[in-house]
Amino acid sequence: MNRDNSNAVRRSQYFLPTLKETPAEAQIVSHRLMLRAGMVRQASAGIYSWLPLGFRVLKKIEQIVREEQNLAGAQEFLMPTIQSADLWKQSGRYDDYGKEMLRITDRHAREMLYGPTNEELITEIFANDVRSYRDLPKNLYHIQWKFRDEVRPRFGVMRGREFYMKDAYSFDLDASAGRVAYNKMFIAYLRTFARMGLQAIPMRADTGPIGGDQSHEFLILADTGESEVFCHRAYLDMDVMTADVDFADDQGLAAMVDRWTEHYAMTDEMHDPAKCPVAKDDLVEARGIEVGHIFFFGTKYSEALGARVVGPQGEDTAVQMGSYGIGVSRLTGAIIEASHDENGIIWPAGVAPFQVGLINLRQGDEACDAACNGMFDTMRAAGTEVLYDDRDGRAGVKFADMELIGLPWQLIVGPRGLKNGVVELKNRASGEREEVSAEAALSRLAG
Ligand code: ATP
Ligand code: MG
Repeated sequence: MNRDNSNAVRRSQYFLPTLKETPAEAQIVSHRLMLRAGMVRQASAGIYSWLPLGFRVLKKIEQIVREEQNLAGAQEFLMPTIQSADLWKQSGRYDDYGKEMLRITDRHAREMLYGPTNEELITEIFANDVRSYRDLPKNLYHIQWKFRDEVRPRFGVMRGREFYMKDAYSFDLDASAGRVAYNKMFIAYLRTFARMGLQAIPMRADTGPIGGDQSHEFLILADTGESEVFCHRAYLDMDVMTADVDFADDQGLAAMVDRWTEHYAMTDEMHDPAKCPVAKDDLVEARGIEVGHIFFFGTKYSEALGARVVGPQGEDTAVQMGSYGIGVSRLTGAIIEASHDENGIIWPAGVAPFQVGLINLRQGDEACDAACNGMFDTMRAAGTEVLYDDRDGRAGVKFADMELIGLPWQLIVGPRGLKNGVVELKNRASGEREEVSAEAALSRLAG
């Protein structure tokens, strides 16, 4: 028996405060729609509470990230949000990080901080317990809140101060093994974004303050993106999901990464018009949102923090490391930027908070109530995620709300249809409507 009722909810009981008016403070469509659809509320500048609908999306995104990390061989664990300043002093980043780091002093006057990232802490964890090359390779990740005191938090969850990130850290004996770890994450990232309905383009990136010699940012194209991007048109049609991936096949992975990096793709930071080899007709100039970033940085932190292992010949070497971030909370907004219309959000099925919105057009009408209750119970029992709008009120309001929150399917039940033995099934993305029997609708929506 299915005891979890969280996947089948009645709107009359659900905390879903939708707004008719567009909030004045929101400058971009995803921020506006997240507020209007009752997904988030601002707690203070750049810091948000996730209301039930938004929380479901966040968890869906998180779960896709998790599944693809696991598939690529990374292991999940959890590090704290609060860290001691000591390790950051050892790595030299305590000063480098500047005002973006939220510094905290505890009651014993110890310097602490709210982690903006976790290279230092994971390196210490590794250094304390791993001694031999036999324990390599390792890739550990966690999904945890971060804090960066951004000068200009804006665009809602897109550039928050507190935000939710997946960060993975790889440890290898030598640089070529490190490259294998990098390639695994590279392909896992493409798969992760594809499953969210996003076309993410890997772009060669500057390694910046984290340092190192290999780095890619993954960007999705959107007019509201903060980066300017220049890439070959070929990237618009590439699909990572058409091929099976074997994460144990190092050479196969390397070939895939080569295919995904053979064309030009740079953000404004790296783009040099004089050096860009792409013909004008093939060059896409657009704006993009950074949703992920991967680095291979060698021994930068292992040297500083003493993460060393004994190699096969008994030699003592600093391990080769990489780090790999995905902006989980930012993705919520990024997906909306990529998928909406003038009526609201259009959730790709993989991240939709519910698959079905059941609309009762005549609440209180015996036949309508009975049909809706029956379908709702059937879907709940089958594990189909359903939000049932069982409120008293005008049909127009229910339609507008359902369009706004963007569930993939609307199942519309009214007295006229029921007389003819049909209900209406509407696809949110295509707008197509179909009249079918309740049984036919349920079997289409099952699973
Ligand atoms: P940006 O250039 O957008 O400031 P970053 O390069 O500083 O990001 P990373 O350190 O690479 O960020 O972090 C990994 C991922 O975390 C980014 O790719 C992005 O998706 C997400 N991220 C970074 N900063 C924020 C933020 N302030 N709010 C929400 N997500 C963020
Ligand atoms: Mg980055």
